[in-house]
Amino acid sequence: MGESEVAARKGVPAAVRRDPHGDDGRRPVAWLHIVAPPSWGVTPSARSWCTCSYERQAIGRAAVLQLIAAHGEHRTACPLLNPAPEGRAAA
Ligand SMILES: [Zn+2]
Repeated sequence: MGESEVAARKGVPAAVRRDPHGDDGRRPVAWLHIVAPPSWGVTPSARSWCTCSYERQAIGRAAVLQLIAAHGEHRTACPLLNPAPEGRAAA
C-alpha cells in the first residue's frame, strides 16, 4: 500500500524543468560579431544580424561602435524579441 504512490512521486524528476516547447525568451535571436584586432593599424569590423532579417555591417572603429549601439537598440525593438501584442502592428 502506499508504496506505489511514493514511487510515482519519486518518478517525477523535479530537477528537469526544461520544457522543449517553453519559450523563456533567452534563446539566441540576435547576434553580434566583432572583429577588432588590438592593433590600431588594423581596421576593426563588425556584423550584427538577427533572425528577423535585421542585418548590419560596419567597418571602422566609429562605425563598429555605432553598430554595437544599434545592436543593443535592436534588442529592444526586435519584433522577435519583443512580440507585438495581438492586433497591434509594430510601427
Ligand atoms: Zn531582430
